[in-house]
Amino acid sequence: MSGIFGAVSKGDCSEMVFYGTDYHSHLGTEYGGMAVLGENFSRQIHNISESQFKSKFYEDSRAMRGNKGIGVISALEEQPIYLKSKFGPFCVVTNGFIENADELASELLKKGASFSEVSKSGVNATELVAKIITEGHDIIDGIERLFDRIEGSCSLLLLNKDGVYAARDRFGYTPLVVGKRDDAWAATSETSAFLNANFRIVKYLEPGEIALLDEDGMVQKKAGGATNQICAFLWIYTGFPASSYEGIGVEAVRERCGKALARHDKDIEVDVISGVPDSGVGHALGYAQESKKPYRRPLVKYTPGYGRSYTPPSQERRDLIATMKLIPIKDVIEGNRIVVCEDSIVRGTQLKNFTIKKLWECGAKEIHIRPACPPLMFPCLFNLSTRSINELAARRAIRSLEGHDLEDVSDYTDHNSSRYRKMVDWIAKDLEVTTLRYLNVDDMVKAIGLPKEKLCLYCWTGECPKKASCHHKAKDKEPARV
Ligand code: SF4
Repeated sequence: MSGIFGAVSKGDCSEMVFYGTDYHSHLGTEYGGMAVLGENFSRQIHNISESQFKSKFYEDSRAMRGNKGIGVISALEEQPIYLKSKFGPFCVVTNGFIENADELASELLKKGASFSEVSKSGVNATELVAKIITEGHDIIDGIERLFDRIEGSCSLLLLNKDGVYAARDRFGYTPLVVGKRDDAWAATSETSAFLNANFRIVKYLEPGEIALLDEDGMVQKKAGGATNQICAFLWIYTGFPASSYEGIGVEAVRERCGKALARHDKDIEVDVISGVPDSGVGHALGYAQESKKPYRRPLVKYTPGYGRSYTPPSQERRDLIATMKLIPIKDVIEGNRIVVCEDSIVRGTQLKNFTIKKLWECGAKEIHIRPACPPLMFPCLFNLSTRSINELAARRAIRSLEGHDLEDVSDYTDHNSSRYRKMVDWIAKDLEVTTLRYLNVDDMVKAIGLPKEKLCLYCWTGECPKKASCHHKAKDKEPARV
């Protein structure tokens, strides 16, 4: 997953884009990029895997001059891509994952196109996006063609002399939100980037919607469609607590998840409610409110320099971060029966080796693990979040119980079935915890507050939203200025 931010201002916007982009640092750890357009384009890309965006871009941003700009924190490839085209020069940043990137790149190569940027996984997907856009009659047509041709998910910001074009992924898996203040307009993946910069939210762009931000406001260039399958994981894990998507705040959802977990725990006596920092904390606060038991911190995170342990690409690096960043507080742990809220369990190995182990070693009397979503059964369709299917704790449990993996796991996704209970017991034993209870999918959907059909729940249910929505086309409407 990546985070994108763009702004158009009456004055210079370089500092605004710098801070706005930096507020997406929790979403990626590979590359950062900024492009600002004044008299000319200035663009910088840095590898941020070993240092933070802020330190790498501070000097660059001070040297950039212009009233429109875009930035990105990228989990995969180098961005922004700069291209001279028949529409004039432009820069583009993207957030998403294009499943058929190789196929589309081959088609373009056959037509005589060439690619200059090569990412670790092959063609740079943002360059591919830029090249497909240039096949259109104009920029809007180019973005429409892109949305028609890609399989997967792609939201983007495109910077040129007109301003910043903001286009949200046609199925809405990733968010894109427009905001304004007196002297500027901006678009962001995370609304938390707006708060300290005094932007107020004007519009959560609809799936497939394309808008142009310029000095005078926002012009809707293409209306969005009714289909929306926004990633439910944004609220559970990946999103920043101060953000909101579709008007629904992340922290409030996490608290509701925690409350729902607590309502299923009337039969256990505990002393301390806690959450694995950072995303487990909101869930734990909700649990503590509902159970009327104290929220305490058996584990604190040493923040400086440590990002999220899921973003670095190598497992070795993820494990190193996981073990280094959480420090136990023995006074809070010793002799206590502790509830530990966690956003989710992917492999379970970090939770076991770096969290549970520390709690037992510090004298915990009981450990009750409470993930704020159901067992993960499938890796993300768009590479937005979880990892390969074989790694998932639930799949390991199924292989152990059945002797092999199953094609149809519906019995295991039904939280009322005996197979589900056996699977959860297996994972609890493997984690070496007193009890393990997951939030069920209905409670999770209720906590988010959107209708089930408006959410992507593929990671848990295996129901493929693309089947229902892949022929969706955005509705045509007259352009409207906001
Ligand atoms: S597959 Fe999972 S992580 Fe990917 S968009 Fe859907 S819910 Fe989100």
